[in-house]
Amino acid sequence: MVTKTLYTCQFCNTDYADKEKAMECEKNHKVLGTATIMGDYKSLKSIPDGCPTKIKVKFMGSDKWIEYKR
Ligand SMILES: [Zn+2]
Repeated sequence: MVTKTLYTCQFCNTDYADKEKAMECEKNHKVLGTATIMGDYKSLKSIPDGCPTKIKVKFMGSDKWIEYKR
């Protein structure tokens, strides 16, 4: 019998046999906690739940805004 050890990225749950690859994967993910987030809102009549229709995110260490749509 062979016992195998896997390392799992805590962000995307991908398994790696190589610990360095798993650490590299985790390090590559951009975290929201330290990002600057701006919402794009519409009127009460058009979006009654009040949630933004678009969100712009600027991750730490980057000067580029990335837009996410609902
Ligand atoms: Zn990952």
